[in-house]
Amino acid sequence: MSRDHGRLEKDLSDLRGRFADDLRGRIDDIIKAMGSLRGQTGKAFRGGVEALRRDVCELAGAGASFGYSQVSVVAREVESACDAVLARRDPPEEQDLARLYRLSGCLREAGEMSQGGSGDETADIENSLDHCPTLKVRQNALIVMEAEGDGIEQLRLEMEHFGFDVHVVEHPSLLEAELARVGPMDVLVSGLDFRGDKSAALNVLADLRARGVELPPLVIHTEHDDMQSRLGAVRAGAVAYMLKPVDMPDLVDQLEAVTREGEQEPYRILIIDDDEALARHTELVLTATGMEVMALSDPMEVLKALDDFSPELILLDLYMPECSGREIATIIRQRQEFAGIPVVFLSGEDDKDKQLEAMKMGGDDFLTKPIRASHLISAVRIRAERFRQLRALMVRDGMTGLFNHTTTKQLLANELSRSHRSGAEMALVALDIDHFKNVNDTYGHAVGDRVIKGLSRLMRQRLRGTDILGRMGGEEFAAILPDTGMVEAAHLFDQLRQAFSDIVFHAASGETFSVTVSCGVAAYPRYATVTDLSDAADKALYAAKHGGRNMVVRADSGH
Ligand code: GH3
Ligand code: MG
Ligand code: MG
Repeated sequence: MSRDHGRLEKDLSDLRGRFADDLRGRIDDIIKAMGSLRGQTGKAFRGGVEALRRDVCELAGAGASFGYSQVSVVAREVESACDAVLARRDPPEEQDLARLYRLSGCLREAGEMSQGGSGDETADIENSLDHCPTLKVRQNALIVMEAEGDGIEQLRLEMEHFGFDVHVVEHPSLLEAELARVGPMDVLVSGLDFRGDKSAALNVLADLRARGVELPPLVIHTEHDDMQSRLGAVRAGAVAYMLKPVDMPDLVDQLEAVTREGEQEPYRILIIDDDEALARHTELVLTATGMEVMALSDPMEVLKALDDFSPELILLDLYMPECSGREIATIIRQRQEFAGIPVVFLSGEDDKDKQLEAMKMGGDDFLTKPIRASHLISAVRIRAERFRQLRALMVRDGMTGLFNHTTTKQLLANELSRSHRSGAEMALVALDIDHFKNVNDTYGHAVGDRVIKGLSRLMRQRLRGTDILGRMGGEEFAAILPDTGMVEAAHLFDQLRQAFSDIVFHAASGETFSVTVSCGVAAYPRYATVTDLSDAADKALYAAKHGGRNMVVRADSGH
């Protein structure tokens, strides 16, 4: 996930080089600005000093970020000289001005003498790597270790319906060879009992572990509910303990929780900073930890970036030529869909009052340049993570984790306009569980909920990451499949329909039952507007219900 050490080191040093190349010109400009204050009075003078103060603030932050501490120290002195001037009423006192001019000499000297140095920035970044989410490709491969005949074929069949690639081992003594044969697995689901020996599996696992054999996370699946068995499982490092008979959706839930670790998408961070070298530097630090970064040096492009990149956090410079960070923050907050996004100022400004002033315009935090890479990384990560959690609560249905009705409709409109632009096909499937009222009436509402979750999970497991799944209400769902035609979608959902009907649910009474689902399929380009597409899918679903349920009907089938 991270680039290699040497590469990171080199990129950082290239950036220091770029900063050094620009430093002379930057200092010249500041000195020129100081010179042009001479002879000015009133508003023009004040405005000039304020601009000067902003520039040296930024220089102080950037200088220190690249290891030019001497430049930074002098720049901070100029900053405080500016503050002293601004604190007075006109006209400026001669001694204040004299101090400024003296400092301009020091600044030039510092720029010529000093050399950048990074300290151990690379190491600091690398130390932060462990806690970052990165995209792990899910393989959903698991080993099931169960004695022959323990319902193992049924278990395998049902797990395969949920998209798992299942390898069966019928005795613990065969586990090591199977692991060597199939390579790394996501989970090991194991029974406890083999030929009457309740500790057979745990003994073998302990032995393998002692010999340094790498084992996947362990989920115990057994009928034994005694303390001794549970304790043995904990000592063997089991991450979950499931009692038979287990509902497949519950087991899948557990398996998902176990495999979910580190499988999140990288955080998307937008950096807005007119200082290109510094923006690149921040970008480098964050991408090294696996985040996805877009760096903007022109703040006027922020609206487009919000739409195209959909960031989860914005790092915002305070002082930029065309508009200020405060103004940008205000504009972002005025867009309703971005009202909740974390905006973190990252600036050389070290005056607390000015920082607070900026925060009033909608900033969530203020980080002062220079900032240690590891501090920046954790400040960004914590806020991005929180935002992701909050947003998930807003756009997803709490019971199933699928998108809620409003969000699904919105995403359908987005996908459809994407198809209009690209010409790619796109399918919409409407699903509704059959005779669901009967399930509730017969087995109770809680069992009904499990059926809803079961279908949701089945869809999640079997469809692609790019497909959009929504819960449209009670026991109604929608699936949006980009780049998929009507025939292909119908075929896909017919397999899903079949798999769902094969799932065995357990009622509290111990009774088992299965449930079916009906689907209606429509697709772009035949149906070209959101309304046409939705109506066509609904009508096809209605036809499936009338045709006897437990079937998939295509909108173009002339039902
Ligand atoms: P059909 O095959 O025609 O779709 O028949 P149906 O019984 O599935 O359809 P109907 O619309 O008559 O009943 C749907 C039932 O779903 C009624 C409602 O109580 C139940 N339901 C809606 N939301 C939930 C939920 O979140 N949990 C549970 N357990 N039941 C729900
Ligand atoms: Mg700036
Ligand atoms: Mg129904």
